[in-house]
Amino acid sequence: MNITRRTGITRRRRITVEVERLVLGGTATPVSWCSECGTGAPMVSAEQAATLRGVPVRAIRRWANSRRIHFTFDGAGALVVCVRSLLSDE
Ligand SMILES: [Zn+2]
Repeated sequence: MNITRRTGITRRRRITVEVERLVLGGTATPVSWCSECGTGAPMVSAEQAATLRGVPVRAIRRWANSRRIHFTFDGAGALVVCVRSLLSDE
């Protein structure tokens, strides 16, 4: 529709590719059940989420605390973030 909108779509495509690379590379939990999405969604660590969105890790933690993105904790108690909610929050 306009240039800004096109740029947003391009950026989302790039992020999707990054997520697929992370998942295929085995560094992300392949597909986990996100209870908030109610469906399977790739889950990544807070650090990976920060890299994907280009923000500091503390921003990811803040978004999780404010319920802006979906999250859970892995078996070791580390924060993991729902990529679906991460990408829809733009
Ligand atoms: Zn979710």
